[in-house]
Amino acid sequence: MTRDLAGILRSRGHKVTPQRLAIYGMLVGTKAHPSVESIYETLKGRFPTMSLATVYKNLQALMESGLVQQLSVNQPFSRYDADVEPHGHLVCLGCGRVDDLEDRSIVQSVAERCQETADFDVRHPAISLFGYCSECRSTQSGI
Ligand SMILES: [Zn+2]
Ligand SMILES: [Zn+2]
Repeated sequence: MTRDLAGILRSRGHKVTPQRLAIYGMLVGTKAHPSVESIYETLKGRFPTMSLATVYKNLQALMESGLVQQLSVNQPFSRYDADVEPHGHLVCLGCGRVDDLEDRSIVQSVAERCQETADFDVRHPAISLFGYCSECRSTQSGI
């Protein structure tokens, strides 16, 4: 990824701070779709003065700059993704893990079908499928 991160932030009127860069770097480096809490837990060692509210504020700035998306998964806490291309998510109801739906053409074809059949102009195709991951299925009988 060779995006000019600092340039993008500045062009949207946002400051470039070490915390902001670290949060973005963490999101780019993971496929776990972390929550605000887990971003905070991961980075608080490096930034002892950083609060949960700071993480949230930084995420807002990154989202306003189009660098990060907030996932509309039905969880108590929002999850964040530095992959802003349209793609679907698989959400485990057991352990809360969120994985990318690797087949991206599914989301695109759903969006296209909506455009044709529902006369709806799709701008943000986001699809979440809820269920149980293989780990949860193997450890919890009856699922
Ligand atoms: Zn699971
Ligand atoms: Zn994702």
